[in-house]
Amino acid sequence: MAQVYWTYDELLADVRRRARSVEVLGHTVDGSPLIVARGGGDRLPAIFVTAGSHSTEQAGVSAAVQSIDEVETEHQVYVIPTRDPVGFQGFAHALSLGLGETPAATSFAQVEAILRDQGEVLFEEEDLLLSLIGDYGYASARPAPERRCPQYHFYTRLQRLYAEEPARLAPLQGRRVYMTPGQTGVEGTGDLGRAYTLIISQTGEILHINRFHDTPWSPVEPRVTRDLMARIRPGLSFDLHESQLMDDRYFLSARRQPDADNELWEQKAARAIIGGITDSGATLATEEDVMSLGPWFDTSEAGVAWLDATRRGEGFNLMDFASRTYGMAFGTEMGMYGTFDGRVDLAMITVRKAVEVFGERYR
Ligand SMILES: [Zn+2]
Repeated sequence: MAQVYWTYDELLADVRRRARSVEVLGHTVDGSPLIVARGGGDRLPAIFVTAGSHSTEQAGVSAAVQSIDEVETEHQVYVIPTRDPVGFQGFAHALSLGLGETPAATSFAQVEAILRDQGEVLFEEEDLLLSLIGDYGYASARPAPERRCPQYHFYTRLQRLYAEEPARLAPLQGRRVYMTPGQTGVEGTGDLGRAYTLIISQTGEILHINRFHDTPWSPVEPRVTRDLMARIRPGLSFDLHESQLMDDRYFLSARRQPDADNELWEQKAARAIIGGITDSGATLATEEDVMSLGPWFDTSEAGVAWLDATRRGEGFNLMDFASRTYGMAFGTEMGMYGTFDGRVDLAMITVRKAVEVFGERYR
């Protein structure tokens, strides 16, 4: 059975139990350590596995922890199990950064009352309430049937608002904004079990922790990740994501490689992964599922989508950066309405199949 981690201590204890060694890479805004765990053997090139930059995608986090000691390989394995320890610890915890104490916040009504009474309300529309408390922004976004992924809906709403009326959101420049998940019925997250972290750059770009991998200004989480990668130079990288927009279906997010040899092996690994996913009995995403995440994917065979970051115009996400800089790189997108175990399994199949092909390459 895959484990859902609800406290960071619980996750860290499991990581320490599984790892050959654990290194603290830095600390984030609540003092939580950002860690990397070593697994695998001693061969190079190294393999890098990470998840949790979007803390609402917890099956990836649990799979990353399992990857420390449950993937057979002679290659060195480095795992950053979660790149957002603050968001991981839930919305009430995120509120504690602005309030100085952890409030009772187990319903949207409670969250909205806190945002109104203790903060400066910057924006309100439909069920979106955005407030500044201390040095942090907080957004409460109730789920609704017409907004299947509340974060994505409101995050793009804020991007448009910033383009139209930059002065309204100027108080948030250079700050973090924590959003309620509103994932009713999603095991491992739910309505308020995590906080989705937005990063508002100093020039007002509204992005998140899976950005800023190659920019001079960068929050601590992508910065320590970048430093680790420069040190280990991974030949194969994974970032384990999930999507609320495609029931329990799966697709692999692959990257075109800058050189022919890496491109050949990326394609081989992609085919092996999709074979493994299909054999498991899982359902592959449709073309429409893939496009629901944005018009920057080219699908080749069923279940494989090639992300072209230049069409997205938000800079590189971690796998864009990894593929351009170090080698083969894959992201997963598991549909969040599968069982938690099933979601973790799909991530593990992805890692295991690609690691097998990687082993063949360097045999
Ligand atoms: Zn994600």
